[in-house]
Amino acid sequence: MRKGLYPMLSVEDALERVLSYFHTLEAERVPILESLRRVLAEDVYADVDIPPHSNSAMDGYAVLAADTRGASAARPKRLQMIADLAAGYVTETEVTAGTAIRIMTGAPIPPGADAVVRFEDTEREGDSVDIQVEVLVRENVRLAGEDLRKGTLALRRGSRIRPQEVGMLATVGRKEVLVTRPPRVAILATGDEVVDIDVPLGPGKIRNANSYSNAAQVQRCGGIPVLLGIARDQAQDLTQKIRSGLEQNVDLFLTSGGVSVGDFDVVKEVLAAEGDMTFWRVRMKPGKPFAFGQIGGVPLLGLPGNPVSAMISFELFARPAILKMLGIDKWRRPTVGATLVEEVKRKDERRHYLRVRVETEGRLEGGYLAYLTGEQGSGILSSMVHANGVAIIPEDASHVPAGTRVQVMMFDWE
Ligand code: AMP
Ligand code: MG
Repeated sequence: MRKGLYPMLSVEDALERVLSYFHTLEAERVPILESLRRVLAEDVYADVDIPPHSNSAMDGYAVLAADTRGASAARPKRLQMIADLAAGYVTETEVTAGTAIRIMTGAPIPPGADAVVRFEDTEREGDSVDIQVEVLVRENVRLAGEDLRKGTLALRRGSRIRPQEVGMLATVGRKEVLVTRPPRVAILATGDEVVDIDVPLGPGKIRNANSYSNAAQVQRCGGIPVLLGIARDQAQDLTQKIRSGLEQNVDLFLTSGGVSVGDFDVVKEVLAAEGDMTFWRVRMKPGKPFAFGQIGGVPLLGLPGNPVSAMISFELFARPAILKMLGIDKWRRPTVGATLVEEVKRKDERRHYLRVRVETEGRLEGGYLAYLTGEQGSGILSSMVHANGVAIIPEDASHVPAGTRVQVMMFDWE
C-alpha cells in the first residue's frame, strides 16, 4: 500500500467517519421474556405508584410510633391487638392510641398506623402485645411511590435489557416492550490460505478463526451474524459472496483480510466495482490496515486479517457501529486504571493496544495490576485468550517502564 494514497487516521477520526454511516434501526415489539439483552426502543414510565400502597417492610405490629415512646425490654408498652392483616388484604380497622394490628410483610399499612414494630421486638400476651422498643414514625414502613412515582421514567430508551429491567417492565405492567431490531451482520473471510473448520488442513493452509471470533463478537453485542464463508483471493468469488450477503438483507458487512500490503488488490477491485471504498491506515497497533465503504448501500468494514487485529478492530469500530444501530449511545467499554507490571518496548508512534490480564492480587490498596499475557504479535491468539482487556499506550508515550499507570479497556465489561 503506497503511503501517500491512503491517509493515516487517528482511532477517533476513523471511528467518527465510520459512525456517521450508521443510524438506529427500527423498533419491534416483543414479550418481555424475549427482551433479555435487547435494547429498549422506548422510554418506559411507571403506570402506578411503585409500590402502589404504603406497606409493612416486616412481619410485626402496625402501631402509632408515639405509643412506643420509652418502651424497652425491661419496661414494655402494652397495646391491645385489634386485628390481623396478611399481605394481599386491606383493613378498614383504624389503629388508634393504645392499639395495634398484627401485620405481615407487604400488607398495606392500616389507617391510623404510622410505624411497624418487628415481631422480634414484641411479646404476645393473649389479645395484647408488649412492645419492647421505641420506633420512629415510618419505621419499617415502605411508602407508596418510594421506588417510583406514577408517571415518572422507569426505564430509558437505549438501555440494554438485563434481568432487573425485565423485572421493572413487569412491575409497571408491561407484557410487551419495544426493542430495536437486531442488526444482521454479514461476515466474510478472505484468503486462499484460509479453510473452514471441517476441512482437512492441507499444506500451506490455516483455519478460519476470524469468521468465528467476529461472529461471536457480533452475538455478544446483540447483532445476528450471517456467515458468508471464505472468499478466495479472486474477484469473481468475492463478488459472488458479497452479492449473496446483499440478498440476505444484511445491515453491515464485515470482511477480514485482504486489506494489507500486497494482496488487497482483488478486494479493492471488487469493492470499487460494486460500491465505493476507501482504504485507510489507522494509527493503532495491532490493526493498522482498515477498509471502509459501502456496497449496495450497506456499510462495509474491512478488518485486517490477523486474528488479533481483526478482533481489536472489531472492538474499536464494528462494535460501536452495531451499538449505534441498536440505539445505544454509550458505546465505550469501561476502562480501569492499572499499573503495568513489565516494561514495554515500542518502535513507532501508533497507539498500542496491549493484551493484558488485570488482577488485584488481593491488594486492597494500590488498585489493579496489568500483566502482559504473552507475545503481542497480531497473529498470537493465545495472548488474547489469556487477556481480559487491552492496555492503551498513547501515541506520544515514548518510554513505558514497569510501574507505568495505564488505562485498560475491559473486554468483558459493557
Ligand atoms: P491478510 O491481511 O489477508 O494478508 O492477512 C493477514 C494474516 O492474517 C495472514 O497471515 C492470514 O493468513 C491471516 N488471516 C487472514 N484471514 C484469516 C482468518 N479468517 N483466520 C485466521 N487467520 C487469517
Ligand atoms: Mg489475505
